[in-house]
Amino acid sequence: MRSLRTARAALSDSTGGHLIAQQNDALLDRDVLTGLMQRTGFMKVAADGVRTDAMAVLLFDIDGLKSVNNIYGLATGDKLLVEFANILASVCPEGGVAARVGGDAFSLLLPQTSLHEAEAVGKSVCERFAEAEIMGRLGQLNRTVSGGLTQVAVQGALENALSEAEMALSAAKEGGRNRIVTVDPVMRNRRKRALQEPTLEDMRKGIEADEFTYFVQPIYSLETNKLVGVEALIRWVTDDGTVRLPREFMHMFTRQYKGIINRPVNAANEVVASFARPDSDIFCAFNISSSFLNRSFEPSPRWLDQLLMGINPKRTVFEIVESGQIENTTAARNMLNFLRAQGVRIALDDFGTGHSNLARLVDFPVDIVKLDRTFVSQLSSNTRHRAVVNALMSLSEELGFEVIAEGVETPDELQALRDLGVPMAQGYYLGLPQPLQEWNARDKAVVLRTDVA
Ligand code: C2E
Ligand code: MG
Ligand code: MG
Repeated sequence: MRSLRTARAALSDSTGGHLIAQQNDALLDRDVLTGLMQRTGFMKVAADGVRTDAMAVLLFDIDGLKSVNNIYGLATGDKLLVEFANILASVCPEGGVAARVGGDAFSLLLPQTSLHEAEAVGKSVCERFAEAEIMGRLGQLNRTVSGGLTQVAVQGALENALSEAEMALSAAKEGGRNRIVTVDPVMRNRRKRALQEPTLEDMRKGIEADEFTYFVQPIYSLETNKLVGVEALIRWVTDDGTVRLPREFMHMFTRQYKGIINRPVNAANEVVASFARPDSDIFCAFNISSSFLNRSFEPSPRWLDQLLMGINPKRTVFEIVESGQIENTTAARNMLNFLRAQGVRIALDDFGTGHSNLARLVDFPVDIVKLDRTFVSQLSSNTRHRAVVNALMSLSEELGFEVIAEGVETPDELQALRDLGVPMAQGYYLGLPQPLQEWNARDKAVVLRTDVA
């Protein structure tokens, strides 16, 4: 088998005889169907190889193998795999390694090969495989293969290179299959960001350690310059003091991890308690995601009772954030009406962007519209934005909702809002989000700073 020979050659040629023992171990780790090295053997051989040599790495995945298995049967799928393995072994040069690293995933390690040269090898593999016909249960058939390509420097991290190649492979699939895509800086950046994202395990530990908390940001009346409310903004403060913003983790709460992360964030109770006090006459706004509204609603289920426990509904605002589609408009409307009947006010967040638009204003009972920052930041320079806000103010009178402008960062923006008659605002210029404890301990000024007012 060519690939086994070349694997052996790779070791004796490039790393010397001292790795022969390890190589033999690796060779035992061989795929019975194709005769190629399996993942564990490949990783050992490859890791030893990159100690002395720069390498190009190609990662291949056969397009639509699953459908072949389903339609033509596993035996036909196996024939395709063997056909591909043979092509890969035949292009594998002396010193290179070809391996089956997963069900329909293969890798080719090419020492001392530029990305350009490796791309040519990858393309020839694609072409040859697309032309290869095999006999299936129902007649001749052929399939294609996609590949991702990257390079590992001498002493480079192989795992890292393989996951880069995997990203490039995904791009090849998305780009229409039957092609080779080389990793690029955009993919590298995306991967870097993904690596910095917290894992599900981090999040679970964070919840157990009560690391989730709320910052609050003041909201002022522009008519009286008085404090009228705060918005509670969730934060994850890790044990080393890093403050993670909702964009880094909120999707984990709202999307795929239902059932895994189902413990409520205790800190919400603290905020609730803080603003339900009899001496507090300001409202506290909580953001609720659309997924919350997608939960089936029956009159007063236990979780809703729990949600409302301890809150003073008359001083509570729920902001519908525009994180996604609301699946069942009627159910969501029922839920919002139920909450309003308790005295809770409903705000439409980030108005003017994404799903937060006129349709939502028509579909749902809304007490407050929060004008998105993208409008606020262009008010003084863009007459169209001003016209839209003007129209919103007329609408607010007609439909009876209030307006809060978000993200006010400059005196000009504030003045433009005042000129347009927008009644309430929040933003870094008026007050930063700060930890609840800090907020509670503040000098209890309830009017805008004099330089702002
Ligand atoms: P949002 O509800 O529109 O909250 C306003 C965001 O704008 C906050 O970001 C706030 O820190 C930021 N902000 C306030 N003033 C300014 C300003 O002058 N300039 C700029 N550039 N930004 C300003 P944050 O806290 O990162 O929250 C982002 C989003 O995450 C929120 O947008 C909301 O959609 C979501 N979110 C926050 N807390 C929660 C929560 O407890 N539950 C849910 N479901 N979503 C939350
Ligand atoms: Mg909000
Ligand atoms: Mg907003």
